[in-house]
Amino acid sequence: MEVSTKIERISAADVARIRQDFPLLAQKMNGKPIVFLDSAASSQKPNKVIDAVSDYYRKLHANVHRGVYQLSQDATAAFEVGREKARAFINAASSSEVIFVRGATEGINLVASSFGRKFLRQGDEVVVTAMEHHSNIVPWQLICEEKGAFLRVAPINDAGELIMSEFEKLLNDKTRIVAATYVSNALGTVNPVAEIVALAHARGIPVLVDGAQAAPHMKMDVQQLDIDFLAFSGHKMFGPTGIGVLYGKEKWLNAMPPYHGGGEMIKSVTFEKTTYAELPHKFEAGTPDISGVIGLAAAIDYIQEIGQDAIAQYENELLAYATSRLKEVEGIRFIGTARYKASVVSFIVEGTHPYDVGAILDKLGIAVRTGHHCTQPLMDRFGIPGTVRASLAFYNTHDDIDRLVEGVKKAVSMLR
Ligand code: PMP
Repeated sequence: MEVSTKIERISAADVARIRQDFPLLAQKMNGKPIVFLDSAASSQKPNKVIDAVSDYYRKLHANVHRGVYQLSQDATAAFEVGREKARAFINAASSSEVIFVRGATEGINLVASSFGRKFLRQGDEVVVTAMEHHSNIVPWQLICEEKGAFLRVAPINDAGELIMSEFEKLLNDKTRIVAATYVSNALGTVNPVAEIVALAHARGIPVLVDGAQAAPHMKMDVQQLDIDFLAFSGHKMFGPTGIGVLYGKEKWLNAMPPYHGGGEMIKSVTFEKTTYAELPHKFEAGTPDISGVIGLAAAIDYIQEIGQDAIAQYENELLAYATSRLKEVEGIRFIGTARYKASVVSFIVEGTHPYDVGAILDKLGIAVRTGHHCTQPLMDRFGIPGTVRASLAFYNTHDDIDRLVEGVKKAVSMLR
């Protein structure tokens, strides 16, 4: 989008212009203009990102960090510009704290495995919350099992908010790390990250934040929040699939052993003794996803051209509109009614199965997600098998919401 100054407030005309940047949104699904309400699973891509990736392959491709020749140096420079943009995006103190990974999942696995190998002992504890995505549960279970450590789960209330007093009670001298999501993908709850970090740090416990659902919707300032680790995925923030970022404070990353071994991550190798490269390369074994980094950098530019404050404000208004209009559906039960939410409305409708509602919406050209959203323990907490989830981005319109509401009403009338 050719905007020279940031948008103060996103208007309907701005959204119409923004939508022109996303070629897929002009398509039809099942013969109907697509209403794309599954951005929490993966967002669509603007031309700027698609062009950046294709230009890279057309004009700039060579492996990075190795070549003496110009093309390789240019590719390396573009790759490292991407790292600097990712650093600025989260306000990390240094670009050596920005590790490129495949996505939030790999970032969390890296910390669980590497931090866990170094710092977890038998009988230690890892605290997560009841609303975590499987990718912020299973890696911790794997390392806890290996080390004889225990996973402790901070409970939530019926609105889907973390019960802070219970969270605090779980922190003790056996707690080695807290791992919590910023925004719940299934409920939309925005967690009080600053408070979580303050309580953990008061006891000397580091905090990993899963920023997968926060990255597209709000500012994440790792210095202001004093986060120790932050993981997020490019594909949920309008960038390519296969690329993500793990931020870690230098003091932790330096203290942790490498995760993967191979090229790029070494200083010197002999069969007797290998020494490791400095940060961030110590954690980036092998040829990285160069085009992914370049696409991610374009996505960051795109988000910042619109403006993160304007995005958050617009999406909050649209979420409020969606929530109030969906109340017209008889027998609807919202799952996730936290005071602070971002871009997700999850619900079930009495007498219907989420999957059947989703299948009828599909026929109407409306893409939503149904099921447990990789949060099975959370669904168990609410005593349901899954929900219908509509998730928003700044390219969605009030008309999208109107079509969703009419679609759900139609589905319910067919299914009851
Ligand atoms: N955490 C949350 C909150 C998510 O929503 C997701 C993706 N659904 C992930 C982690 C994992 O992200 P990825 O699959 O991109 O690694």
